[in-house]
Amino acid sequence: MSINANIAHIQQEIARYPCTLVAVTKTKPLPDLEEAYKAGLRHFGENKVQEMESKQPSLPADVRWHLIGHLQSNKVKYIAPYVHLIHSVDSIGLLKEINKQALKNNRVIDCLLQMHIASEETKFGMDENEFYALLQSTECKELKNIRIVGLMGMATFTDNQQLIRKEFRGLKNLFDKVKFDFFKHDAAFKEISMGMSGDYKIALEEGSTMVRVGSAIFGSR
Ligand SMILES: *Cc1c(COP(=O)(O)O)cnc(C)c1O
Repeated sequence: MSINANIAHIQQEIARYPCTLVAVTKTKPLPDLEEAYKAGLRHFGENKVQEMESKQPSLPADVRWHLIGHLQSNKVKYIAPYVHLIHSVDSIGLLKEINKQALKNNRVIDCLLQMHIASEETKFGMDENEFYALLQSTECKELKNIRIVGLMGMATFTDNQQLIRKEFRGLKNLFDKVKFDFFKHDAAFKEISMGMSGDYKIALEEGSTMVRVGSAIFGSR
């Protein structure tokens, strides 16, 4: 199937959910991104700073770039002028660096805090205790050039649909709890970034507001 047809198919499936489709374009060449752009997509996700850097100037300015992969503090400066949303914040140190670079660029950068929800050891992200400690720290409250707009999580890489559903449900429950405890009066805190090509349907049923889909649009990598 063509990129166009894949996008149409996915858009049809997600149409009844209030959800943003982020096209994950990592490893894919510019013509593929241009095709997705022509099909109407505006949210593109890359997992490496260098690759985002090389593609960003070639696409129209209204593309919203999402950094979805692990981010090293020393690379924040490259994407700070234009990045739309950073999904993978997992430490106060990284948050402080994003704040610093955002200030230099005279902007506020939206961030998601990445939670470790998978039963695998390999995935990045914070556990609930680290997460609460971060939100309660005075350091975090002083950061005026970042805005925490929600949570991100990746389910275990498995065929076990029940396990995936349970992990997504856990992230949604945590989101609701954190919303109540810290962001009750903050309308911007509303995003739950969960779901990829293999599990976005489950993620939507469990309350995802943002799905990150790569191979189901562009083919396998
Ligand atoms: C690669 C990647 C995706 C998309 O994966 P697909 O299975 O190709 O849809 C989503 N999120 C993150 C963090 C990724 O690195």
